[in-house]
Amino acid sequence: MTYQIENVDVLTIGAGGGAYPAAFRLAKAGKSVIMTDPKGVMSGNCLYEGCVPSKAIRETGEILENQRRFANLGLPGQIAVDFAKIIAHKDAIQARRYAQHEKELKEYNNLELINGIASFIDPYTILVNCKSGIQRTFKCRHIIIASGSDVFTPAIPGVKLCLTSHDIYKPDPTLKILPKRMVVIGGGYIGLETASFFATFGTKVTLLQRSSQVLSSMDPDMVSTLTPLLHKDINILVNTTIERIESTGSVKQVFYRQDGIQKQVEAEVIVMATGRKAVIPEGTKQIGIEVDNHGIVVGPSLQTRFGHIYATGDVNGRVPLFHAAVRQSLVASHNILGGDKALDYADFVNIPTTIFTLPCAAYIGLTATQARKQGLQLITGQYNFSEDSRAQILETMGGGIRLFFTPGNLRIVGAWIVGTDAGLLIGQIGLAVAKGLTAYDLAAFADQHPMSSEGICHAARSIF
Ligand code: ADP
Repeated sequence: MTYQIENVDVLTIGAGGGAYPAAFRLAKAGKSVIMTDPKGVMSGNCLYEGCVPSKAIRETGEILENQRRFANLGLPGQIAVDFAKIIAHKDAIQARRYAQHEKELKEYNNLELINGIASFIDPYTILVNCKSGIQRTFKCRHIIIASGSDVFTPAIPGVKLCLTSHDIYKPDPTLKILPKRMVVIGGGYIGLETASFFATFGTKVTLLQRSSQVLSSMDPDMVSTLTPLLHKDINILVNTTIERIESTGSVKQVFYRQDGIQKQVEAEVIVMATGRKAVIPEGTKQIGIEVDNHGIVVGPSLQTRFGHIYATGDVNGRVPLFHAAVRQSLVASHNILGGDKALDYADFVNIPTTIFTLPCAAYIGLTATQARKQGLQLITGQYNFSEDSRAQILETMGGGIRLFFTPGNLRIVGAWIVGTDAGLLIGQIGLAVAKGLTAYDLAAFADQHPMSSEGICHAARSIF
């Protein structure tokens, strides 16, 4: 069978954060652009089952917690949680954003989103198996692989009895009834966030973590500041090895080992949150693109070993966060506009990261503990929310801000925050880190009172 080959300037594999910012920029610059995605919509997993729906659920938890402190409806502290309403709220936000994206797409007639799966035929040719059943073949001047990542589930007996973040956060989710008990397997940010939301809604949560620290790759001082502030109904068990999962009626049992002793915990819902893995489009390796354990190998220009093929976002495994994907996507678009020359570069280090637990924690760049491991001594500026006016107003006095400066020039190279507004404050601090500001710059700025951001100025002043 022969196919008519269509010519296009740029084709993106995926239509998530690694793809569409580039697609729009390139369309704006007059290029013909095709995006492909088997979801048939823009925004990838972030909107489908990641950042946006999980935060929609988180914020209802935050509102609920605040209401509980002041409401007097029936028994004190006994506001009933209508989980169906929480899901409806989440679903509505997803629907609203999909509608918004559909409108945005219509603004360009040189940009098309195809509902289908793309695979490589050769370094310039992409086959798209469309949902409609037809196949389309494209000869592409430039290709952006932005196929993202997917839930990784280990081969544990009984794993099929578990739900994943996909089942909880996708539109019209599988989990519709608030469970009395939940076991979360995995103490990465997805597992810990999920545990935190459900504990707030009234579920008793047991979280099983393989290593000795939840958020195992993150700064231990930040993590040990965060964990005591989490909801009392989250029972975190570390150094556990999961052996199998079984079910009796509607109850499931997780069998695990801790310190060599076999133990068991049961719940109505088991959530497997053991990480995500890069999705590599078919044909990628066959045409000679290098793939390692993290994903497609790229440098800061986002180019693969083929100058005209880029890999952006989760698929390269460098910084698997939506906003990092967006920046990488734009870098790729600039390099495409520059004729596949490395003219723009992604920063893989200075990307703000927030763990959206209740309360949340956030960090950026290099922390003092990480620096010590590299033989570097940083100067730490600190501020505790116990002395903060906004934290006192909100009664969120746990945690604080830590800023890390290099000795000598006092340039800020990293930070962490636990507690009040951490996810917002890391943006302001992140910009300071990314732009190389110093403790003098931060100390001299009149941060606003009575907002938590005044803690940034205080933390900088603490070292003088
Ligand atoms: P990122 O933020 O890195 O762009 P996401 O995981 O949010 O990552 O989005 C990646 C998107 O790529 C998902 O919507 C997924 O459906 C899509 N995708 C994965 N494999 C293919 C493929 N072979 N062809 C087209 N789209 C793909």
